[in-house]
Amino acid sequence: MPIYLDGHSTTPLAPEAMEAMLPWWHAQAGNPHSPHLRGMLASQAVENARAELASFIGSDQQELVFTSGATEANNIAIRGTAFAALERGIKRRGIVVSAIEHKSVLSSASALRSAGFRIIEAPVDESGIVDTSVLEQLVSHDTLLVSVMAVNNEVGSIQPLSDVVHIARTIGALVHVDAAQGLGKLSFDSADFDFASLSAHKMYGPMGIGALFVSSATHLRPLPVLFGGGQEAGIRPGTVPTPLAVGFGAAAKVSRTRFIADAAHSRALSALFLEELRSRQVRFIENVPEAKRVPGSLSLRFTENDAMSIIAKAGDRIAISEGSACTSGQITPSHVLLSMGLTQQQASETVRIYFSRYNSAADAVEAAGVLSEIVSR
Ligand code: PMP
Repeated sequence: MPIYLDGHSTTPLAPEAMEAMLPWWHAQAGNPHSPHLRGMLASQAVENARAELASFIGSDQQELVFTSGATEANNIAIRGTAFAALERGIKRRGIVVSAIEHKSVLSSASALRSAGFRIIEAPVDESGIVDTSVLEQLVSHDTLLVSVMAVNNEVGSIQPLSDVVHIARTIGALVHVDAAQGLGKLSFDSADFDFASLSAHKMYGPMGIGALFVSSATHLRPLPVLFGGGQEAGIRPGTVPTPLAVGFGAAAKVSRTRFIADAAHSRALSALFLEELRSRQVRFIENVPEAKRVPGSLSLRFTENDAMSIIAKAGDRIAISEGSACTSGQITPSHVLLSMGLTQQQASETVRIYFSRYNSAADAVEAAGVLSEIVSR
């Protein structure tokens, strides 16, 4: 199998999470909302998982709502909050998002235009970091919600969340953070935010589950965007998938204990990889400098080389992506790279690489070797 270096799209499942999930598919299967013993055991397992996740992000268990992933959590945070404001007669109609948010934030927000909301995009600098001096001018007493991600999924840039929170709070706006790519990579304290979106498969948990943190201190609880049973405190109906929740909890437990070691490991591997590229005289440009990105994450531009053709040529030996996996296959260049000021040509020369917990030094050396064969100098 090719060496896997696409952890921005999804990280491999932690073996501890896989083991924890296993019995809940068959031997101990039960719907956590059923009244019998099997149901109660499943419910207990879901609540234990919620507790693990809560202790990882420094929240209360009751503040976490399981969802199908960060996409759904973002939809609830943005649409659910907007509709709650309409229902409660709150007059604020501004929603400010950064220009480099994931499509699930950008599209959730733009879809609210027809309901009378004004969507304002805050620009980023050349390193993919929200320009807080501009953000400050874009918010006003009409701003209902400010939504900025913790870490960008295409380039790994770390966002200045404490400044964002300060700016939003000063004018009385709510704060949502899409933490899908931040959790497990950066220290993260939910206490600062009203809402935070999480995704298990970006932190060595299973695909198909995420969570929305809804602060107990927030003055506006989002309305559900789906309608059905009253599960998950009425915010997200549907059966909570016991095995996935258990896997998410187990992954959070591992990440909590390995947090510092994970960062050091990922940082060392990406540094080794870059060193190997340089020693082979491969020319590249780092779109985001080391100090501004999460450990292990690289957005690299190989001038005069088309990213899609690099990826195809390297495909049987290394798995890497161009731009965002969510838009891969489309010809449109990444909105993130364009927002950072790259030209369409420069964006098309960019690949993204992530060295995860399960990569080795040998992977980093081999990947550099593969790229040095493919990339023309
Ligand atoms: N937000 C960000 C920043 C992401 O990277 C992703 C996944 N690419 C999502 C949201 C969507 O997450 P999920 O796959 O869990 O729906």
